[in-house]
Amino acid sequence: MAMSIETKTTQGTAECARLQARADALLGIYVQVPFCQTKCTYCNFHTGVVSGARFAPYVAAVCKEIREWRGLYRAAGLRSGEGSLFATDTIYIGGGTPSLLEPRLLAQMMEAIRGTFGGELLEVTLEADPETVTEQKARAWVEAGINRVSFGVQSFVDRELAAAGRMHRREDVYRAFAFLRAAGIGNISFDLIAGLPWQTRESWRESLEELRRLGPEHVSVYLLEVDEGSRLGKELLSSGKRYGAGAVPSDDEMAEFYELACAFLRAAGYRHYEISNWARPGFESRHNLKYWNRELYLGFGAGAHSFAGGERWANAHDAAEYVRAIESGRLPVEQRENVTAEMALEEELFLGLRKLAGIDLRKIEEEYGVDLGARIAPLENSGLVEREGDVVRLTEDKLSVSNEVFVGLMK
Ligand code: SF4
Repeated sequence: MAMSIETKTTQGTAECARLQARADALLGIYVQVPFCQTKCTYCNFHTGVVSGARFAPYVAAVCKEIREWRGLYRAAGLRSGEGSLFATDTIYIGGGTPSLLEPRLLAQMMEAIRGTFGGELLEVTLEADPETVTEQKARAWVEAGINRVSFGVQSFVDRELAAAGRMHRREDVYRAFAFLRAAGIGNISFDLIAGLPWQTRESWRESLEELRRLGPEHVSVYLLEVDEGSRLGKELLSSGKRYGAGAVPSDDEMAEFYELACAFLRAAGYRHYEISNWARPGFESRHNLKYWNRELYLGFGAGAHSFAGGERWANAHDAAEYVRAIESGRLPVEQRENVTAEMALEEELFLGLRKLAGIDLRKIEEEYGVDLGARIAPLENSGLVEREGDVVRLTEDKLSVSNEVFVGLMK
């Protein structure tokens, strides 16, 4: 099986390279699968727990949106795509829990993208929850062209996983990881969350130690922001029986967990390349870098966001509404905005500074015809950013307070 995949890729390379050379832009493609098995206690995403019978019609709608994107965009009055030739080099299938889908449905979406956009697919990521991974699925994913799996591990401590409403336990991560490696997935990312109920400094360190034992190529660490509308948020607000305020780490503790992760992952050989992301050299997420670099991406599916042709827009979040609209030949655009020069400049600063490599201040000033000296100087004086020639970057030991930089830039 591995042989045939290799052959297919090699044969396609020359053609893809020719297409890429002619393309006006290299796109990232995002596909949203908004279904989950259960709702995690902290979740505030637009995802739903629905019958499996709804998966196939949803995937059919996504494939139709992909194949008919030019016509759908034109009818919706979107400028992108008119006369431009796009190739794609990254795909990210996220959610929700896309690993819930039968592999044949994922393969259908991959075929729709390949058949519509072409290009040499360098990075194809599937988000997966550990308990949904089986040996057969892992092999089928590789066969469909998926070469990177992003795992919602969140914690290796079962008590924390149970409190978060996650379906998997520590041993599921180990089992799933072995299936993926055996199937040939050489690029695996783990998400960890700092700030889960019952988490302590010791249990956080335990999760980091377990992560090091498995050695994924990429790591994302998120700080839990408890949304008032989530189950956890409601429980905390009402000082419920299960989670009083004492059950979740304080902001100071979360900052400490983050700093601990920075030191731990550095010592384990990971390069910190974005506020929340670390990678072994060469395994930085190509797809996510497109967001921070303000490159073009098209999102397909309910609630998917896109950025192209100087516009940002999002599809309707409601999956049933999305399917109905696409089936009737209409793109359900829910939010839409033209990115003005002022907004673009702010994005250059906010998104660019998330990367630890920083931004090229002179280049941005020249491109936008502005002088940013007065905005940057106070941040530099307070040690929040550092400057080296034209490059401005967040100061590494102040990353846990990077929000202050973004607030300072708004002034
Ligand atoms: S798996 Fe992700 S999207 Fe689904 S309920 Fe949990 S946090 Fe939300």
